[in-house]
Amino acid sequence: MEKREKLYEGKAKILYATDDPNLIIQYFKDDATAFNAQKKGTIVEKGIYNNRISSHIFKLLAQEGVASHFVQHLSDREMLVKRVNIIPVEVVIRNRIAGSLAKRFGLAEGGVLSRPILEFYYKDDALGDPMINEDHIAVFELASQKEMEEIKKISLSVNTFLKSWFQEIRISLVDFKLEFGRYDHQVLLADEITPDGCRLWDIETEEKLDKDRFRRDLGQIEEAYREVWRRISEHSAK
Ligand code: UDP
Repeated sequence: MEKREKLYEGKAKILYATDDPNLIIQYFKDDATAFNAQKKGTIVEKGIYNNRISSHIFKLLAQEGVASHFVQHLSDREMLVKRVNIIPVEVVIRNRIAGSLAKRFGLAEGGVLSRPILEFYYKDDALGDPMINEDHIAVFELASQKEMEEIKKISLSVNTFLKSWFQEIRISLVDFKLEFGRYDHQVLLADEITPDGCRLWDIETEEKLDKDRFRRDLGQIEEAYREVWRRISEHSAK
């Protein structure tokens, strides 16, 4: 597999072409941003941990029948993935009240929702990823009705699986963001599943083990990412 030109550089990852037009390399950086990139920083070795965590989760999901763009963990910071066309809709799945939901409803963080809430955001940095609904998605043709049915179904089954899997490593899956892509007339889970885009709280102490430590200047950021990977790797060794 030969690495070729840089295709795109995002906030946390760089995409490189390979000699196979259907495959690209996701390179995980240590850069961290928050509040629509107004806050910038570095989380040392985040890229390495996020690559490991996401590769592991995509593998588990494949075993559960959830197809993603993941092909192979190539090296510390490189993941080989199928080259999808990203659907410009970010899906947020919530199990507990936190972040923007707490703010919007004036509620304390932590409350458990009676069932998961799905939210959609228009993936557009210049606009600050505004929240949208399925009418916006249909009228502006961001995704077809059929794709949306698929996206909702996959999102809920990923949530069901990940919630109980994280529970086994004593982590509460508070909320998380998913992205999807089109590949060969199929909808595939894409991007990454890491503490950058998930809220992960220790079940006992409710200590935050995710990017909120960076967003809110809570310190021990590196330790949190390393701890998530430590629990995953110890669990999978059992
Ligand atoms: N999220 C994300 N990217 C975004 C916005 C949110 O990965 O551009 C994730 C975030 O990490 C959290 C969940 O989606 O796990 C819900 O985020 P929320 O809407 O509460 O926004 P925030 O408080 O992060 O601004």
